[in-house]
Amino acid sequence: MRRIQALVALAAPVVFAGAAALPAQPVPERYTFAATSAPGDALRVIQANALVEEMILTGELARVTVRPDRNLPGRVHEWFAQIHRGVPIHGAGLSRQSADGLPVSVFGTTFADVDIGVVPSLGSAAALGRMEALAGAEPATDEPPDLVILPTDLGELVLAWSAPMQDLHTWFIDADGGQPVHRQSHVYTESAVGFGLGITGAPQKVSAWNTGVGFQAWDRLRPAEIVTMDAKGELIDRFSLFFPTPAWQDAVAWDDDNEWTNASITDAHAHLGMTYDYLARVHNWAGIDGQDGRILAIANIDRYYNASYLSPPFGPQGSGLMSFGETSEGVPLVPVDVVAHEYQHGVTDGAMLARTGLPVIGRQGFVLGPSHLTVDGETIRCGDEHTFPAIPFLREEERHSYLCLDETGSVTTSRDGRLTLWMYDGGSIHEAYSDIVGTAVEFSVHPPGEGLSRADYLLGEDVEDTIRRIDSPRSLEIRPGFTLPDAIGQEFRFVTVHVRVGRLSFIRYTRWGTKGNRPFRLNSDGYNGVHWNSTILSHAFYLAIEGGTHGSGATVAGVGGANRHLVERAFLRGIIDLAPPSITLPLMGLLIRQAALDLYGTDATFVAVHEALTAVGL
Ligand SMILES: [Zn+2]
Repeated sequence: MRRIQALVALAAPVVFAGAAALPAQPVPERYTFAATSAPGDALRVIQANALVEEMILTGELARVTVRPDRNLPGRVHEWFAQIHRGVPIHGAGLSRQSADGLPVSVFGTTFADVDIGVVPSLGSAAALGRMEALAGAEPATDEPPDLVILPTDLGELVLAWSAPMQDLHTWFIDADGGQPVHRQSHVYTESAVGFGLGITGAPQKVSAWNTGVGFQAWDRLRPAEIVTMDAKGELIDRFSLFFPTPAWQDAVAWDDDNEWTNASITDAHAHLGMTYDYLARVHNWAGIDGQDGRILAIANIDRYYNASYLSPPFGPQGSGLMSFGETSEGVPLVPVDVVAHEYQHGVTDGAMLARTGLPVIGRQGFVLGPSHLTVDGETIRCGDEHTFPAIPFLREEERHSYLCLDETGSVTTSRDGRLTLWMYDGGSIHEAYSDIVGTAVEFSVHPPGEGLSRADYLLGEDVEDTIRRIDSPRSLEIRPGFTLPDAIGQEFRFVTVHVRVGRLSFIRYTRWGTKGNRPFRLNSDGYNGVHWNSTILSHAFYLAIEGGTHGSGATVAGVGGANRHLVERAFLRGIIDLAPPSITLPLMGLLIRQAALDLYGTDATFVAVHEALTAVGL
């Protein structure tokens, strides 16, 4: 077993930063698989497939799903979760693609030599009570908590109870001591960005439902029902719709005579329909969940909310909810790229849930930085403690040491240690895909050009405050002197602290970080840069279509705007059909290349995709 894994992993082209070695606990070996159908990779596919078969026989892999390919006849996709003594290792497992019974590609992560007890000393009821106390909220569902083996950001494996709570997070607590070990948010929001003024104001046709006494923004003509609710600016409505309730039917937007005048409702509803049509027509993808489940959105949220997506099991039917708020100037955030962006957050998670039973988990990864950073005369050093300020009634002040490593890779508080600089690949991939689909839908409904109701590679431009541009990320400064990244090496990375909880330890993001070699300091702690770093992957998407010379000097022969759907299909296939839940940006680059190979062989589209990904360092 170990021998084969080592063989396959050594051959794999993906190299990740190692986990920090922690003195208390042995860190199991983690292997990332990327066995593709690229010429020259055949042996690796055979080895990986042999490992899959062996791990099935030993009970270490369990098949979760097997699904026919949506677009290629004869192809089948399977997801195998890694199991240790009957308990799944959260996010670990392998995604196998086969053609007529023969393996084509294998992607994913497994752990070798796992040695961890699976009998929790904390019972499931006690665990749920503990999570209620930690979250300050009740469980989100009636389901019992799940017992999982959680790989932490620092590479440890922890037996944990897991359940979604009504604070909109899935909590993970140590199944022995009850300490919180991780929580994953169900909210994808654009709150790291600011919007300005403006709205399209273009007339929109509303697919409405005639109730006999009026018309509802409830589209029953498409295979999936699309329902747009109206919060009427009252925040309380939105909160109540976060959780399963039949009350959503009373909130459906309404018009007496089908002469819709509320631009927020009409734009949101029309743009949801356009996004549905684009994904169905170009990608053969049904709705958000892939099964044409009802699509729920709410508009006219209070202006202090911008646009967001809330993932299952939340939302009025437990199937998720898109929310569209307003700019600080009171302008509705419902242009087509913004609506499609939030919709795609649902597809990214929904496709992963349907295939693996898990949302996109992603990984946090680090590189080693210097021993200290200085910004505006203030310096932090290895050995210093970072202070997280108190939040009245919520949190007391906390102090933790900056997470530094010595030359052996062990955690240290020595001044000679090196700061670890982290980023969250999973979130950056999520945001990149949302911008990619936001752009693609815009091009599917508008002619190219500048200005209102014209398609471009800017995000949010129709509310007159472009938040990202994927054609030239470096032309947008998010703070003076700091532009959006267009390649690996330019990404925003963050200093973290080492939080010790009992025998366990975790990371927490601080306000300090670097971009390239330049240090910065944000106004508050906790942001992991996912929106900013998304432009690395989304810029590759742009380059594969339009071609051109990348900032690095690399030249890419794009497929041209007339062939943009070819590139869109390769990118979407990578995340929808092939990706494992535990994913990194380099692995995503390989998955998209595999998708292009599947669809087009090694023709010009593959070359464009390959060159574009290579140009951005993926
Ligand atoms: Zn987003």
